[in-house]
Amino acid sequence: MAASSWRREWLSKPLYRWAARALPAMSDTEREAIEAGDVWWDAELFTGRPDWRKLLDMPPARLSDEERAFLDGPVAELCAMVDDWRINWELHDLPPDIWAFLKARKFFGMIIPRKYGGLGFSAYAHSEVVRRLSTRSLTAAVTVMVPNSLGPGELLLHFGTEAQREHWLPRLADGREVPCFGLTSPEAGSDAASMVDHGVVCKGTWQGQEVLGIRLNWHKRYITLGPVATVLGLAFKLRDPDGLLGGREELGITVALVPTDTPGVEIGRRHIPAMQVFQNGPNQGRDVFIPLESVIGGAERVGQGWQMLMTALAAGRGISLPSLAAASCVFSAHTSGAYARVRQQFGIPIGKFEGVQEKLGRMAALAYQVDAARRLTCAALDAGHKPAVISAIMKYHATERMRIAVNDAMDVHAGKAVIDGPRNYLSNVYRAIPIGITVEGANILTRCLIVFGQGAIRAHPYLMHEMAALADNDPQRGLEAFDRVLWRHAGHAFGNALRAAGRAWTAGRFAPAPRAAGPLAPHYRALERYAAAFALAADVTLATLGGALKRKEMLSARLGDILAELYLLSAVLKRWHDEGRHAEDLPLVQWCMESGCATIEERLDGVLANLPSRAAAFVLRAACLPWGVRRRGPSDATTMACAELLLAPSPARDRLLPGLARPRPGEALDRLARAFELAAGTAPILDGLRHAGIRDWRAAVGTGALDAAQAAQLEEMEQAVADVVEVDSFDAASLARKQG
Ligand SMILES: Cc1cc2nc3c(=O)[nH]c(=O)nc-3n(C[C@H](O)[C@H](O)[C@H](O)COP(=O)(O)OP(=O)(O)OC[C@H]3O[C@@H](n4cnc5c(N)ncnc54)[C@H](O)[C@@H]3O)c2cc1C
Repeated sequence: MAASSWRREWLSKPLYRWAARALPAMSDTEREAIEAGDVWWDAELFTGRPDWRKLLDMPPARLSDEERAFLDGPVAELCAMVDDWRINWELHDLPPDIWAFLKARKFFGMIIPRKYGGLGFSAYAHSEVVRRLSTRSLTAAVTVMVPNSLGPGELLLHFGTEAQREHWLPRLADGREVPCFGLTSPEAGSDAASMVDHGVVCKGTWQGQEVLGIRLNWHKRYITLGPVATVLGLAFKLRDPDGLLGGREELGITVALVPTDTPGVEIGRRHIPAMQVFQNGPNQGRDVFIPLESVIGGAERVGQGWQMLMTALAAGRGISLPSLAAASCVFSAHTSGAYARVRQQFGIPIGKFEGVQEKLGRMAALAYQVDAARRLTCAALDAGHKPAVISAIMKYHATERMRIAVNDAMDVHAGKAVIDGPRNYLSNVYRAIPIGITVEGANILTRCLIVFGQGAIRAHPYLMHEMAALADNDPQRGLEAFDRVLWRHAGHAFGNALRAAGRAWTAGRFAPAPRAAGPLAPHYRALERYAAAFALAADVTLATLGGALKRKEMLSARLGDILAELYLLSAVLKRWHDEGRHAEDLPLVQWCMESGCATIEERLDGVLANLPSRAAAFVLRAACLPWGVRRRGPSDATTMACAELLLAPSPARDRLLPGLARPRPGEALDRLARAFELAAGTAPILDGLRHAGIRDWRAAVGTGALDAAQAAQLEEMEQAVADVVEVDSFDAASLARKQG
């Protein structure tokens, strides 16, 4: 017997049988979710020895001239038109001129190709538009986001028939049609595939003729743009009890376009999501008849709805919410830095207190990191990838970091951010956070099930192939395929074990770093070390838990966090490289690395402490964390250096907080920017007086220590600061009227 046959019979076969029992049985919906999209840098991290050249050589995301002109033109114009206070507190909607502007300038058609009348923008341009609008008005941003995100436009582009594209896309691009997408229902939230909304294949009358079609009944809720939509992308379960399509009775989840003026459609009621006034509401359909051609992709796409949705989500989840989150992080850092510079307590700017600096430093570093990851993800999308695992990482981690940053900003502003009114630029962002956390895959579920649960299978170099071999209907062919891949997998795991142990015992000192690393070489080495540890820990966890890992959500979540940190930290290293390797930005890189490496060690420790197989945990600990958790997170010095970047104008501050929409003259944000400039401009005068022992500048007027022009500057600065510190109050009668 040849050695390979002996191996197959005596080693691979028992393992094949064991694996068939141990690996999870996958439902169709799970398989479709896992197979959606593709893999990219996540797969590289999973190898345990990422090829950094691939990352560093990748061109950064860039805007075309036309895209830049759109940002400087219509987007800037829209930002100038928006009065968020009026939208939220008086109109409870966008005003008609903004709706008309959005349609006329094709904001709803950013992802629709030019040949169908859209703008045909890159993922990066789309992200930049959302990012800028988010810092002006969440209502405007969400209104623009939704038609360009998962919904009729994207589904038609990928799966529609040519006739459907030609009919619908030009009308969606110029706003003649307003779309929404209805998936969620009261019974089916996170578990959307369990929906009870249903359609039955039957004959009916459509435009005066008897045609083959679908009779629909549904109850959806939380549907963004639903109350004003003219066309509803609807997901439902389709049955064909009379065999009119000639196949199975249960056809599965199907997606169709339903004009909202079709008889039986009930639409128009509104929810109020966390006091935000973008259009959102429930809708229902009772015995609504639509022709079969309304199914996106026509009859041949019947029953493929889930796969279509998962494919569209694989890319879309990486753009909208991460862009909004990146904007919120930058906004928090920008406003908090400026406010902490101008607001004084105990005679000095609050930004000089270490306690406040702790928050400012974190906000600065998070703004750097989330935007780095946003840019990298957009670059990957524009290079044609559809990285499903990375999109899920971005959805969860960008929005969670947004939550931290906005909370920090609230704390730094204190009462100023608590009291509502046109002078408060933060409270609305704060109120909206749970929406970002909930939509497009609620965060707990995304962290516990999607990032690693699906990511491990998708991005692992061998697991998908092993599972395919196990699922083969021909056991002999399955065994042969399994045998081929299993031993490569074993070699890979063994190599990773040696690599992980070698690097852990030497604290990564001898790990490779790319030649371009420069002062960041130790960081690349650290990531090499943790990538090997992650790959090994993932293999051991999968081998010892098998299908039970699905239920071990806390373990899965920790492994997902490690993969996510590796991705986010890769993005930070790349940003520093792409942005011109500025020494002034190094504290931000340092903060992210120190924080991320501490998280990785803490999560690894958590996996080891909770892995049911104690023997495996013992070996893993010896290989991956022999010295225990050594990383403690950012040092105080690093945090303070990051905070200082926010407290004075500088090129590094401009790099960190780029492209924020310009506020309207006289608006609270405009006044904050002016006060910040004046405070920075007058700081040398005040420093000079302090050195001369003069604490109250007014006492120095006319003494020769301060000339009249300087005194006028200080006066102007103090007035500007007083104006910023002011909050709104309202006539009691006007509030009573609002309540009435
Ligand atoms: C403002 C807003 C706008 C929306 N817009 C749309 C839209 O346009 N179209 C649309 O179809 N839907 C929309 N949604 C629906 C949104 O996608 C759902 O709210 C979301 O999928 C979660 O469903 P749920 O709220 O019912 O939460 P539930 O499913 O009840 O979940 C509750 C909690 O349990 C967690 N959870 C659930 N299952 C698991 C699990 N297996 N493991 C761990 N944790 C789990 C969730 O993460 C969540 O934290 C919107 C929702 C909101 C609030």
